[in-house]
Amino acid sequence: MMVLGVWESRPVAISVKPNCLTVSIDGPKEARVFSYDFAGRLWTAFLDGVSYRRGLDGKILAKWRLPGDARERRSLLGDEALHIEATARREVEALYAAIRDGRAALKGSLPEAGHRGFQQALAFDADASKADAARYRQVYKPVGILPPDQYMAVVLQLTEGCSFNTCTFCTFYKDRPFRIKRPDEFKAHALSVRDFLGDGLSLRRTIFLGDANALVVPMPRLMPLLDAVHEVYDVEALGGMYAFLDGFSGEKKNVDDYRALRAAGLERVYVGLESGNADLLRFLRKPGEPDDAIHAVRAIKEAGIAVGVIVLLGAGGHEYAAAHVRDTIATLNAMPLDLNDILYFSELVVSEGLEYAQDAYQAGLKPLAADERAAQEEAIRDGLRFGDESGAPHMSRYDIREFVY
Ligand code: SF4
Repeated sequence: MMVLGVWESRPVAISVKPNCLTVSIDGPKEARVFSYDFAGRLWTAFLDGVSYRRGLDGKILAKWRLPGDARERRSLLGDEALHIEATARREVEALYAAIRDGRAALKGSLPEAGHRGFQQALAFDADASKADAARYRQVYKPVGILPPDQYMAVVLQLTEGCSFNTCTFCTFYKDRPFRIKRPDEFKAHALSVRDFLGDGLSLRRTIFLGDANALVVPMPRLMPLLDAVHEVYDVEALGGMYAFLDGFSGEKKNVDDYRALRAAGLERVYVGLESGNADLLRFLRKPGEPDDAIHAVRAIKEAGIAVGVIVLLGAGGHEYAAAHVRDTIATLNAMPLDLNDILYFSELVVSEGLEYAQDAYQAGLKPLAADERAAQEEAIRDGLRFGDESGAPHMSRYDIREFVY
């Protein structure tokens, strides 16, 4: 429901949805917009040309546009993040006070859920925000990464860490030993996540089974863990379950296994292909061969589960570029991708201290510049062929620096 009005000569719009409250206050240049979940957590804000997104861990990602098409981003932690929350709260508090004493003229009355949304947002002050972030750290091991379409999932850490942990371009789980949770322990985790989210659960779509490689768990151990998810959540109402399958050595699941997972509510598997070139995968120390990824995707698709395949742009620099493009095209064309699937292009992000940076230096690799990485994406896209009837997968960028949970 949308309630429009005027406050201090400025148009205001209040959107009350079943999952969030959004307040928009017109300004001289641009509107200021604030969204909250129904536990009172700030979710998104747009202030003075900068968009903000708060994660459940209390960090806020700020993004803004530079002249031209470029975008900049920065993570705000601690007091910086609390400052944005306080700025939003002040504006929302002033508007709510004006609504209650009639200084803001609304066309129609604010529904009860709207009043509740305002009150929850105003009660979520700095102390509540710090306590919430502390509770996040009790409930979760830090959530390292998610596919971009899963940032609003309910993450359940069925495993911790990555069973491989060898890839030189990935630091997400380096300090976290891999382990599979026991069913009772996992159910307690699922319950504590539900309690932590509280009324904010309504904002969440889908269930993501973490960490890096939940589907590496052997079937006899995996199925009881999925049963535990169903005991705590209405999986269907939440839009099903999603997970990564990363690294393709070790025990492999067959079509019947994936059919059982499909019946249990698994909707999409995100496959970290990175490259179709076996030499490049070896250089990256990514386990498995491109053929393993093809077989895995065929089995997953045959079971009626969608995939999200991730390609790493810029990996191996100029030296591997031609082979990376050629073999990635061949590998993707050997996968039965269709319009239910997603193809993500993720740029290699090289930070100091990354093992990849050392290996690349020792191998004398020349990195690809941003426009060369964009050209690499275009070259791969140009080589892809999809069936006329099955349609093409959705293709999109995956910027790991924009991850927020
Ligand atoms: S398999 Fe995936 S999560 Fe594990 S180290 Fe490699 S890229 Fe990282």
